[in-house]
Amino acid sequence: MNKINILNISNLHVNINDKNIINGLNLQINAGEVHAIMGKNGSGKSTLAKVIAGHPTYQITQGEINLRGNNITNEEADKRAHQGIFLGFQYPIEIPGVNNIDFLRLSYNSIQKANKQLELDPLSFFDLISQKTQEINMNSTFLNRNVNEGFSGGEKKKNEILQMSLLNSTLCILDEIDSGLDIDALKNISDSINRLKCEHKALLLITHYQRLLDYIVPDYIHIMNEGKIIYTGDSKIAKQIEDNGYNSIL
Ligand code: ADP
Ligand code: MG
Repeated sequence: MNKINILNISNLHVNINDKNIINGLNLQINAGEVHAIMGKNGSGKSTLAKVIAGHPTYQITQGEINLRGNNITNEEADKRAHQGIFLGFQYPIEIPGVNNIDFLRLSYNSIQKANKQLELDPLSFFDLISQKTQEINMNSTFLNRNVNEGFSGGEKKKNEILQMSLLNSTLCILDEIDSGLDIDALKNISDSINRLKCEHKALLLITHYQRLLDYIVPDYIHIMNEGKIIYTGDSKIAKQIEDNGYNSIL
């Protein structure tokens, strides 16, 4: 049976301020699959994540990004989110003055509205989000604080996972969700992510270190270097990188 394609990137070239950062990148992800992108610092991993999500400061000079067969190369970020792309940031920002539960409800309702689904009032939303926080073992006090304000590194990452769980996106991209986490927080977040995997959706993990991939085992690992995927293998190559460094593959 043919697998359902979720993401198809062909010959992508991206510039920022006339500097070329992504340079002929190809990537295909099907429903049910977990992919990881690894690579040295500065190889363009975060740039790729932001370009897939529609960050406006990057210029796509060549190539195409397709989501479930729709060309989204020139689509705005909010339209992409409505169509099922979620990006968990490497460095989640603090938004003082914006209450976390309001932020979550407005995000949720905006996607529901765009897809002609039921929007929730604050009371019904509270039931839904309370269930989501319990599922990922997150303390509900984080709902009434401002978005990420004063959250520890691990708590910010947990809040990204809460958003991911709530928005139920088709393609979830997590950029260095493991950075800054101690081993208990890493296991905890990995458990939550593993529970959110399903056959209709796809997950793209971006990481610099192998240790995340001990807990979330990908179907494919891609090695990125100088804005291109230069090698694709299975989960075993993570160990090889851990033992012998990226140069053993480059
Ligand atoms: P990675 O996530 O793999 O560490 P990034 O995608 O963050 O890499 O960065 C790739 C390259 O693009 C780096 O050399 C970085 O300095 C450069 N870069 C990213 N953003 C900008 C920017 N706004 N202006 C200039 N260069 C940038
Ligand atoms: Mg990065």
